[in-house]
Amino acid sequence: MRLSRYFLPVLKETPADAQIASHRLMLRAGMIRQQSAGIYSWLPLGYKVLKNVENIVHEEQQRVGHIPLLMPTLQSADLWRESGRYDAYGDEMLRISDRHGRDMLYGPTNEEMITDIFRAHVGSYKDLPLTLYHIQWKFRDEVRPRFGVMRGREFLMKDGYNFDLTKEDAMHSYNRHLVSYLRTYERMGLQAIPMRADSGPIGGDDTHEFLVLADTGESEVFYDKNVTDIKLGNRDIDPYNVDDCRGVMEEFTSLYARTDETHDAAEFAKVPQERQMTARGIEVGQIFYFGTKYSESMGAEVVGQDGKKTPVHMGSHGIGVSRLLGALIEANHDENGIIWPEGVTPFHVGIVNLKQGDDEADGACEALYKSFQALGLDPLYDDRKERAGGKFATMDLIGLPWRITVGPRGLKNGVVEVTSRRTGESEEMTPEMAIQKIV
Ligand code: ATP
Ligand code: MG
Ligand code: MG
Ligand code: MG
Repeated sequence: MRLSRYFLPVLKETPADAQIASHRLMLRAGMIRQQSAGIYSWLPLGYKVLKNVENIVHEEQQRVGHIPLLMPTLQSADLWRESGRYDAYGDEMLRISDRHGRDMLYGPTNEEMITDIFRAHVGSYKDLPLTLYHIQWKFRDEVRPRFGVMRGREFLMKDGYNFDLTKEDAMHSYNRHLVSYLRTYERMGLQAIPMRADSGPIGGDDTHEFLVLADTGESEVFYDKNVTDIKLGNRDIDPYNVDDCRGVMEEFTSLYARTDETHDAAEFAKVPQERQMTARGIEVGQIFYFGTKYSESMGAEVVGQDGKKTPVHMGSHGIGVSRLLGALIEANHDENGIIWPEGVTPFHVGIVNLKQGDDEADGACEALYKSFQALGLDPLYDDRKERAGGKFATMDLIGLPWRITVGPRGLKNGVVEVTSRRTGESEEMTPEMAIQKIV
């Protein structure tokens, strides 16, 4: 992309109403625009990162065998009356009526709808196990939408639902989701710690939340310092292998790590004192096992091996896709702007032309630009007639991992300058070496 032809409405001033770094930076970098409280347009740069995050979530879900589909945002109230949640859900649900006076709602989550799909099409134990998921917009009329996309009213969520014959099978699905979530966050360069949590209005027994530690997080968390040393890395885990998945679950959840809702001071006291950590965290996902809560109330049954009908065991599993952009920036920024991890960056490299209109500089930039494209990378070329300081400030703000600075003086010696956004270190080298370093 050439910056002269792109739409990147960066703000010079720091928006006064944005209280936390990620919100400020998303506004300043021209990633989002608020349309009403907690409702945002995703401007091109923000949209690009959102898509990258979404793609990682899709890839990691499908890697473990979960099947994508797409359900609508608007749902019929009748479905929710069946489960009893139409009244129970309260003011967070946006209720709408259509021209015929039928009660509708903008889905805050999809347990009812997926259960309806299941009961309409699945009738035998032979079709199990089954896990379906989608990435779709949700609406929750939050009392206090704030911190930008972190707590929006309209937000993008991945929600997945498993259907199993027995509790044991459903616990395997639960553990498999945990594995897939850990890998998803790690690929984005984020550490999200599974913590024992409370099940809230979804209901159920087993649940873990995934928390990214950050001072601006809304949850209070308590954990054994050693949990932060556990990484999934590139382990070869077979998602269909019960022991493989259970092993990961046990490894990641045996040390103390809880949110304030389930915090138990007596248990916490057993952790060696120097390892007792109290901090704040951002909830970027949650997994639930809730048994037959919806399958019983909504009649989602299968015929088992013995010929008898039994309600299926279910769980639901969510990732805050749009919230993740906020969490990523909270964890990766400095006073000059965002520092994107390679896995989600909107462009791989920025090319800054110090003297636009100079034949040699223009030619060298064009050559670099085309080389990156030919290699399948996405470069952003600042080809505007602006002063160097302004170009550097924009690149720092939008946080691409690499910047290549091209000017007539360097080119006389056959070199360009390569700068790492994260370390700030610059090195001079030939354009060919610069390409090799970044690819
Ligand atoms: P919170 O405790 O932050 O209100 P939740 O527990 O109500 O979140 P879940 O029902 O577990 O949310 O939804 C799954 C995921 O969706 C959450 O882990 C979070 O990452 C994301 N999410 C929930 N509410 C919002 C929101 N208002 N804005 C953005 N993301 C959200
Ligand atoms: Mg909530
Ligand atoms: Mg929560
Ligand atoms: Mg939750």
